[in-house]
Amino acid sequence: MDTVARPTPQLKVNIERLKSTLLELSRIGFNEDDKGIYRVGFSEADMAARRWLMDLLEAEDFCPRMDGAGNVYGRFGDPDSPTVTLGSHLDTVPAGGMFDGALGVVAALEVLRTCKEQQVTLAWPLELLATSEEEGRYGGMLGAQAIAGDLTPGVILNMHDADGNLLSDAMTAAGMDPIGALDARRLPETMRAFLELHIEQGPVLEKLEKTIGVVDGISGVFKWIVRLIGKADHAGTAPMNMRSDAFMGLADFAHEIPRIIDENGTDRSRLTVGKVELKPGSPHTIPGEALFTLVGRDSDEDAMHELGNACRKSLRAIARRHNLRFEHEQISWLAPMSCNFELVEMLERQAASLDLSYVRMPSGAGHDTQFLAEITRAGLLFVPSVGGVSHSPDEWTHWSDVESGANLLLKAAVALATER
Ligand SMILES: [Zn+2]
Repeated sequence: MDTVARPTPQLKVNIERLKSTLLELSRIGFNEDDKGIYRVGFSEADMAARRWLMDLLEAEDFCPRMDGAGNVYGRFGDPDSPTVTLGSHLDTVPAGGMFDGALGVVAALEVLRTCKEQQVTLAWPLELLATSEEEGRYGGMLGAQAIAGDLTPGVILNMHDADGNLLSDAMTAAGMDPIGALDARRLPETMRAFLELHIEQGPVLEKLEKTIGVVDGISGVFKWIVRLIGKADHAGTAPMNMRSDAFMGLADFAHEIPRIIDENGTDRSRLTVGKVELKPGSPHTIPGEALFTLVGRDSDEDAMHELGNACRKSLRAIARRHNLRFEHEQISWLAPMSCNFELVEMLERQAASLDLSYVRMPSGAGHDTQFLAEITRAGLLFVPSVGGVSHSPDEWTHWSDVESGANLLLKAAVALATER
């Protein structure tokens, strides 16, 4: 009998398998012209990616299912016990990159595959979750909000994108019942923890030369649609002092943004006008209407309220000055959140045990984790984005960092799934 104690072989993901799965996914919704990925929530490509994932889960006997909000689940282990859930989102922004969201889903699949292959004994089942409509075409994080039980029929039926297209129409076109999203709710007793691996989408890790970011909190985000309404007039016959030029109002507001943040925000405040439409949009006509989005972020909810109030005040004053009418609608308000402190410490310990360099950091972008945190212990891990670039075909993360992040996800997931 062999009495020499053999060290347990270190459990590792199969990076080649992870890589080929991620590359396969990146071809769903790929656009030849701009090389971007178009898997906008509930579009044909988004639904195709969900079916592709369910086929992979089926092939592994991971019991695939889609809930009423379009979230896709798979599972390795006991079907009735509370889960250690891993995942991220499958949808992308228009012309998005191949890592945002997809990495967390494919890494979760790789963790399940590795555990099955290595016949890892778990006390709790590992679950994969691929959430729906995270990117916010209709407001954001629909799937995760549905799981957290934050939706009502009124909210679902009113959700629309910046062009007025209804979420409910998009869901119906995808063969789903919009109100069915309410059935996606999970009770806290069905989940033991949630972990998300995501690209940083910013320059911090690269600059600090760290492989892993252990996120301790996520900034809150509000999104407005703003209308400045003036009068469309002939650009030649209307004298400069007799105009109600909506664009001039928008230009004034854009100039005010740094002052608004200096006076009312924090060093974590962000205000962005990201989409603008001028009407009627003719070179020889004074813009009668400026329609634009305004997105504000901060990790402190009071600061978010202050920013919103200051923007309202500024826009009202500008509207008066230019003889415009000011209207705005708040499309979404996502409160900031703190990650589970014990989980943050556990993730740091696991990173150290794998000899990975890591740093504790906040997340300036919103993620599914913030809603999952409402029902369970939730943790979020970042790997570096080359050049800090994201939401672009130039989005890239080195495979060595992908491997490190996936191995940390695996180690942490097994630790959570074996705790008694
Ligand atoms: Zn994302």
